[in-house]
Amino acid sequence: MPLPYGSVKFGLSDAVMARHRPGEIDYRLARQNLLHAFRAGSVSQLQICDAQTELTRNASHCGVALEEMCPVCVTNNLRNVTYVFGPRLPSGGRCITNLAEVTRLSRRQATYTAYVVEVCIDCGWNHLIRSYVL
Ligand SMILES: [Zn+2]
Repeated sequence: MPLPYGSVKFGLSDAVMARHRPGEIDYRLARQNLLHAFRAGSVSQLQICDAQTELTRNASHCGVALEEMCPVCVTNNLRNVTYVFGPRLPSGGRCITNLAEVTRLSRRQATYTAYVVEVCIDCGWNHLIRSYVL
């Protein structure tokens, strides 16, 4: 049974989630509005299921599996992928694979920003869920 949206795990661990994050932005309302537009027929599945190959691959290999079903194709292949951007990281960000990487980056003097993206590896649905400063 799908979980209500408020209980979705957002990333690497619940312990990390419990911490207050400076500069955190929650995009769930934008997600909800887009899905409402999709269900109302004003946005096509092609428009919202446009995950690029690399994003889908990262979701498969580095993503955190969610218990929630995909809101578009209703399969259970929904993942959260975390990308971190900042100095000395690739211009496309670094796909984070474990909590140790987040901890290591957060100890640096520079400012790093993490973006958590929800991705369905079946249909290509993807949406930014939240961002925060490490
Ligand atoms: Zn899907």
